[in-house]
Amino acid sequence: MTNHPEAFDAIILGAGGAGLMCAAVAGQRGRRVLVIDHADQPGKKILISGGGRCNFTNIEAGADRYLSANPHFAKSALGRYRPADFIALVDRYGIAWHEKTLGQLFCDGSARQIVAMLLDECQSGDVTIRCGQPVREIDHADGHFTISYGQGAARAPALVIATGGPSIPKMGATGFAYDVARRFGLKVVEPRPALVPLTLGGEEALFRSLSGVASEVVARAGKTAFREAALFTHRGLSGPAILQISSYWRHGESIGIDFLPEQGAGWLREAKRARPRAGLHGVLSSVLPGRLADALAERFDVPGELANVPDRTLEAAERRLADWRFHPNGTEGFAKAEVTVGGIATTGLSSQTMEARSVPGLHVIGEAVDVTGWLGGYNFQWAWASGWAAGQAL
Ligand SMILES: Cc1cc2nc3c(=O)[nH]c(=O)nc-3n(C[C@H](O)[C@H](O)[C@H](O)COP(=O)(O)OP(=O)(O)OC[C@H]3O[C@@H](n4cnc5c(N)ncnc54)[C@H](O)[C@@H]3O)c2cc1C
Repeated sequence: MTNHPEAFDAIILGAGGAGLMCAAVAGQRGRRVLVIDHADQPGKKILISGGGRCNFTNIEAGADRYLSANPHFAKSALGRYRPADFIALVDRYGIAWHEKTLGQLFCDGSARQIVAMLLDECQSGDVTIRCGQPVREIDHADGHFTISYGQGAARAPALVIATGGPSIPKMGATGFAYDVARRFGLKVVEPRPALVPLTLGGEEALFRSLSGVASEVVARAGKTAFREAALFTHRGLSGPAILQISSYWRHGESIGIDFLPEQGAGWLREAKRARPRAGLHGVLSSVLPGRLADALAERFDVPGELANVPDRTLEAAERRLADWRFHPNGTEGFAKAEVTVGGIATTGLSSQTMEARSVPGLHVIGEAVDVTGWLGGYNFQWAWASGWAAGQAL
């Protein structure tokens, strides 16, 4: 074996959604591309995504559906590679799909079809993919990046960091991208687990006895609100509404839950008139899952028939039910987080090409960047769009 590194036009670290899209685009533009991943196969997160059916995009994807220290950063890439572009690709491969809810598109069959499609696209661009290859060293000199990995070494004028964020370490996720970024002088916005269940302690731990109960709610953190299902778990709160709000929640803050988003103002006073002999528990049982109604009713000091309860007491109960304050003591952490909020700061990157302003040739794409989507296909759309933008520029 010679010691000469193999020459490429671009080396991409990470064979996830962003890396594979970027490789396919650059390869099909005639670039000689090498993709290196330490995992034993490409696209592992795609395979487990969307319960195995991959929620591959969301037709509502726009920059307002993403969290970032710079909310404008994602606009350019998202505007140039849209959900319709990915749908056209999926259709070209004859992959059947459906809209589940809220603009979320899933494969009818399996997430494997998406990985197979991306690998096929890479093959059309003569991309070389090497899996099971840990990266040992990155050298940067004379405008070239030299990567020592596994048994080999490769050299290129362009390096793309597509190694994702640290969510779900057991899938091979690491904070590698942040180490590389810091080494090249790029800033990192503090990474936090996102789209993650919240945990309850103290007095609120009592709610854990509701484990398994689900109900449609509006969950609020600050000015942000999501109306979807919430689920009580043996550790605290989960379900789509909670996962969404977890991305906005900060340690020490409370979240507000409206348990009865369907009920208009004054509904308890109306219930008093319509069913004066009923108690609060009975009324709550008619609009909420039984165990949840039991638990909430227990927490009010409203005994007896509604007919004997003053209106102002009912109004106070209504207000509390519409903005029940939970004080999570934490999250289930990166082990359970679907994504990472934060990451490599966009201030150091071009929104057009994803290239580092201070290090020509170095690009960062996908979840490694401080751009995080809502639940519902937004994160893959960012992976495709940022990968496409960099792929056009290599
Ligand atoms: C359980 C689960 C379900 C999800 N479902 C959806 C969904 O349905 N829709 C949606 O939009 N989003 C979903 N997401 C989020 C989505 O998977 C990610 O946002 C997306 O995969 C990010 O793509 P990426 O290419 O940036 O990173 P990744 O897909 O994480 O790819 C990074 C790659 O880099 C490799 N790597 C990491 N460190 C190194 C290293 N040191 N050296 C070499 N290689 C390395 C990894 O092995 C991996 O292959 C889900 C996430 C999880 C965890």
